[in-house]
Amino acid sequence: MSAYEPVIGVEIHVQLSTRTKMFCGCELSFGDPPNTHTCPVCLAHPGVLPVVNEEAVRRALLIGVALGCEVAPRSIFHRKNYFYPDLPKAYQISQFDIPICGRGEFIAIRDDGSEIRVGITRAHLEEDAAKLTHAGGRRVGAAGSVVDFNRGGTPLVEIVTEPDLRSASDAAVFLRQLRQTLLFLGVSDCSMEEGSMRADANVSIRPVGADQFGTKTELKNMNSFRFLERGIDAEIARQTAILGSGGQVTQETVHFEPETGAITSLRSKEESHDYRYFPEPDLVPLAPDPSWVAELRAGLPELPLPLRRRMVDEMGLTTEDAEVLTDSPALVAYFMEVAAAVDPKAAANWIRGELRAQLREAGQDPWESTVTPARMAALVGLVESGAVSVPAAKEVLAEVISSGTEPADVVEAKGLGQISDEDELAAIVAEIVAANPVQAQQLRDGKDKVIGFFVGKAMAQTGGRADPQAVQRLVRAAVLGQ
Ligand SMILES: [Zn+2]
Repeated sequence: MSAYEPVIGVEIHVQLSTRTKMFCGCELSFGDPPNTHTCPVCLAHPGVLPVVNEEAVRRALLIGVALGCEVAPRSIFHRKNYFYPDLPKAYQISQFDIPICGRGEFIAIRDDGSEIRVGITRAHLEEDAAKLTHAGGRRVGAAGSVVDFNRGGTPLVEIVTEPDLRSASDAAVFLRQLRQTLLFLGVSDCSMEEGSMRADANVSIRPVGADQFGTKTELKNMNSFRFLERGIDAEIARQTAILGSGGQVTQETVHFEPETGAITSLRSKEESHDYRYFPEPDLVPLAPDPSWVAELRAGLPELPLPLRRRMVDEMGLTTEDAEVLTDSPALVAYFMEVAAAVDPKAAANWIRGELRAQLREAGQDPWESTVTPARMAALVGLVESGAVSVPAAKEVLAEVISSGTEPADVVEAKGLGQISDEDELAAIVAEIVAANPVQAQQLRDGKDKVIGFFVGKAMAQTGGRADPQAVQRLVRAAVLGQ
């Protein structure tokens, strides 16, 4: 056990997937040729004026309402001043002391079912900077850099948490589940790879039992949950080594190199007063109509956390099943349709296991595949009724995927129906037992695992059509006289 306790808070930038930018009418684009979605406003020509995107405000409110935040009756925009080539105005329009969404809370659930309660400090609206690309990939030592203003002015919501997290793995669980919630709200596509969701972590450590926080560092821009978890762990280890040798942690921004696992210092951390925040004189305050906010609250979709609870408590799924199946709204819809027709636990096992495994090879998601929910339910139903064995059903599934045929028709055409005739099975079992006296003796000697050997033989001989449970029973009867 370490003598230190980590204290972690995160800042998440979410690009809203609105049609147009935050303060101008340029369309959002990802992957279009550089500098094809720009105008005098987002290029900061003299004399232009910003206009707030109403849809971006709606989505920010939706996030706030879903996170239980207090919605400010009147919030204002500020200018955050700094010079960088990706910021043509030399300031970013953001929010400072009166964000649109104030304090809230998010509850994430660990695999063991325990809760991680994370206070939300605020969620505010701002605009994204343009995209800089450095020749050679590195900022330092690059031969040159180019800037693409397509991204400049994209609406962002920045969500800031309280320093309530105590481990890197909790931080990863929290972020994954927060991401799911945002996906369910339909506000962003939340792709960490493409940068539409970016996370920074504030990390400090303190002696176990201490009340005071230690000096924190800011771990920048990690583009996957795995890197985030590894990065936080590496930073905790670095700080632990510093304090352990009598040193002091410096407040700074650090970067995690996934390839080497090393932490490098980027720059000393700015304080907020360094940015010379001042109220944006070109924009009026945001004062959302309370009835609009109430309408958004009433119209919230069923969010992942309550949904997962319902799946576990009412549908008999495990916590892990529920987490996997709430990965996206499309997957939830797919599962729910199958689960309405068959045993939900069986539906969960098939969708999580075999269906995903087989579709992975085809690079498809369940809802885009030829395995419609009705076909998936039909297949699960065939297994549950004993009409096909599990191995045969896997074969049927492969055929449904490749040809889009109905499961029952595949069973019929391929003769995959389970052998339910006990006499026929008993004859096959007797033959196998007679041909394998060594294994039969092992079973008599109490080596129960060898039963799997006989089941395997029976499956091979029947092309997967034998009922494994019946085979086990018949083998015991034949060998042990049970
Ligand atoms: Zn523009």
